[in-house]
Amino acid sequence: MTRNGLKKKILLGVAAALAVVAVILVIKWKEASDHGGQQPAEPFRIAGNFYYVGANDVTSFLLTGPEGHVLIDGGYPGTAPMIMASIAKLGFKITDVKVLLNSHAHFDHAGGLAALQKASGAELWVSEGDADIVAAGGAGEPGLGPFRFISYVPLLRYPAPRVDHRFKDGATIRLGPIELTAHVTAGHTPGCTSWSFPVRDGDRELHVVHICSLTLPLALSLGEYPGIRADFERSFRTLRSLPVDIWVTSHAREFGRYRKFSERARVADPVAPFIDPDGYLRYINSAELRFRKLLADKQR
Ligand SMILES: [Zn+2]
Repeated sequence: MTRNGLKKKILLGVAAALAVVAVILVIKWKEASDHGGQQPAEPFRIAGNFYYVGANDVTSFLLTGPEGHVLIDGGYPGTAPMIMASIAKLGFKITDVKVLLNSHAHFDHAGGLAALQKASGAELWVSEGDADIVAAGGAGEPGLGPFRFISYVPLLRYPAPRVDHRFKDGATIRLGPIELTAHVTAGHTPGCTSWSFPVRDGDRELHVVHICSLTLPLALSLGEYPGIRADFERSFRTLRSLPVDIWVTSHAREFGRYRKFSERARVADPVAPFIDPDGYLRYINSAELRFRKLLADKQR
């Protein structure tokens, strides 16, 4: 190896080590700080049997039914008590939650699942692509590309829940009259799952889509896990094909929860601000634009 080559390697090593420390500090800060999206937030009914029970930014949703409830996402490890308090505040019991679902295996959405599972006794369903990662408390997530080893750092793992069921794209999960369809919209994580389900609100039936996440992972720009581009292409197509009245995502700011929530007070129909098929398409369009731009920049 030439002297220059060695120098380059050492510099790269130092840069990688600094990056690791920086990522650890940022994640820890994010988790600890209120700005990480886990300030308590007011729980409320979105429509019919569909409720918001998440924190100020990391979301959780409750679908209630006569044979038990379904809870989507557990926030950070520290969000679980807030979710339980929100469920209680709405007059429901955590022990009636029979099914736990997850959008994806990241710390801020799967971190509280173990505590919620313990409190409820519910069975957890995770897509095949994310199941091993969730069962390992986040270890092995490929989104960090060459920095994937960071996900194995014990300090950065979340309490691992028990994964009771693994499913494939298109699976249906039923609990009494509640029925959700799983759409594996991979890319952000390998098993990133969007959910679609009907909600009966008075005499109307509304189509709800919970988008997993379309945020581009570091892996896409730094080094890719096999098939990540094709995954994103397919995810955009899948999401565009779904009928939608109400849409939500794993981060509240992305679907305009604050704006929609405050609009409720000013209109006769409190569900109306959440009926937003245009916003749904705008969200997909802007994510796809970022994706295309990144690919174009990489070509240069
Ligand atoms: Zn994520």
